[in-house]
Amino acid sequence: MPTVPLLSMKAPISLGAKLMNVAAALPPLCVLFNIAKNNVVSVLAPNIPAMYEMHFAVPMAGAVLNTLNTRVDAKTIATILRHAVSKVLFVDYQYIPLAREALRLLLAQANQSQHQAVAEADDQYYSSFPLVIVIDDIHSPTGIRLGELEYEQLIQKGNPGYVPEFPQDEWDPIALNYTSGTTSEPKGVVYSHRGSYLSTLSLILGWEMGTEPVYLWTLPMFHCNGWTFTWGVAARGGTNVCLRNPTACHIYLNLSLHKVTHMCCAPIIFNIILEAKSSERRKINSPVEILTGGAPPPASLLQRIEKLGFHVTHAYGLTEATGPALVCEWQGKWNELPEEEQAKLKARQGVSVLTLADVDVKNLETMKSVPHDGKTMGEIVLRGSSIMKGYFKDQEATSKAFQNEWFLTGDVGVIYPDGYLEIKDRSKDVIISGGENISSVELESILYKHPKILEAAVVAMPHPRWGESPCAFIALKKNMESENEDVNEAEILAYCRKNMPHFMVPKKVVFMTELPKTSTGKIQKFELRIKAKAIVVS
Ligand code: ADP
Repeated sequence: MPTVPLLSMKAPISLGAKLMNVAAALPPLCVLFNIAKNNVVSVLAPNIPAMYEMHFAVPMAGAVLNTLNTRVDAKTIATILRHAVSKVLFVDYQYIPLAREALRLLLAQANQSQHQAVAEADDQYYSSFPLVIVIDDIHSPTGIRLGELEYEQLIQKGNPGYVPEFPQDEWDPIALNYTSGTTSEPKGVVYSHRGSYLSTLSLILGWEMGTEPVYLWTLPMFHCNGWTFTWGVAARGGTNVCLRNPTACHIYLNLSLHKVTHMCCAPIIFNIILEAKSSERRKINSPVEILTGGAPPPASLLQRIEKLGFHVTHAYGLTEATGPALVCEWQGKWNELPEEEQAKLKARQGVSVLTLADVDVKNLETMKSVPHDGKTMGEIVLRGSSIMKGYFKDQEATSKAFQNEWFLTGDVGVIYPDGYLEIKDRSKDVIISGGENISSVELESILYKHPKILEAAVVAMPHPRWGESPCAFIALKKNMESENEDVNEAEILAYCRKNMPHFMVPKKVVFMTELPKTSTGKIQKFELRIKAKAIVVS
């Protein structure tokens, strides 16, 4: 496969000159601050134009882009900056207090490690602090300053004639993305130019994104570089509509104002769109293509969102796979099926995105593929160009993540006779009740069909007789509050008995106003498991 630098992609004209200046402004800094090729440049910013520009400018200056999750705490940011040995930190004004605290902790960590008698070989970390550059500090409503440099002022100093750095090797790093840490400590995943280029290409082809799309940014760009659409939209000569906060009001307003054609989002955004007040809603005039993933979208939710004028494509992926690796490719013959049947097929995670990755479901003890019967569960494994080479400076975690060259996703799934894959659970979320495997995803998708349920999550709860049994946590729809008075545990359990086999029926239902979420908007089952453990069932 020949090396094709990302720069060959068509960038929007208006962005072109500015990008050259951003890229050109970085090298003098590199000289000043001793930044070598492949050094890390971190960015703490929401979906704003500067964040988008960084996706080009940083690699064009020969450095590696590290976009930070804005929802994690200062301690995690400090840990990442230290681990990545970031040389520059760009901070949007909104996150100055968070960055300040992170830098304070970083300094404390550095002082501590200097006092350690035996430093690890790669623990010469902080001889200096990252250079801090604030984005839009001048207009900052907070009025707080941080660092000496401001982003736009820095760009003014750039040289438009600058010749960008091209990667010497297609495996050179382009980005360093830390996992959100749903199941463990954040780990650094290195993205290569090759992997990112192929992912970008495969996704725009796989999703059939035509030229000049109008793309609405609700998916954070910090999440796997916006599933590579930071580069993908430029490749199609598109327009980026950047949203600082994806509220219902802003989503509807921008969809209609800019005639948006495409957006990516986690299923949680569907709830925001569906539960919007009537004053916030706008008519969707032309169909908006949505690529959803990051968590299982219940079939009933897919059905409801499509009724509003959205057309959904479902994808599955993870940080280690440079974003989406599977897509539920639509088959023409499915158009004849009843709506409910179509939604069920769409809720499956699908097939490999073009030639991006090989996918299989294996029994990890034998490493044999499970039969394609839609029933036998195994672990979803991936290999191919888009799969990471390993975790940054973590050989132990890297070795554990692979078996016979296959990357172990930690997700449990089945394969249907038509070759389509469906996730049943994360391996640690499967509930084993009386020797029977219960898929929490399956149980939740039935709960989501209940007209009064907004959010549902099912976790294992210790049970004296069955070992484990399902415990359901539920948040009810808010705009139905008056009608909710009569929704109690007994009603939900009666609904479950009617709609699922008896062994799957939860032994307990807990109502909450909102379910706890991780920094990427996924329901935090870890916390719910602690709550469920405290419940005693007779
Ligand atoms: P983290 O592992 O820290 O949560 P990721 O964003 O990489 O960070 O999450 C990847 C995980 O999200 C997958 O392993 C899988 O469990 C879940 N996931 C992603 N897409 C889907 C999907 N379409 N359906 C079900 N689960 C999904």
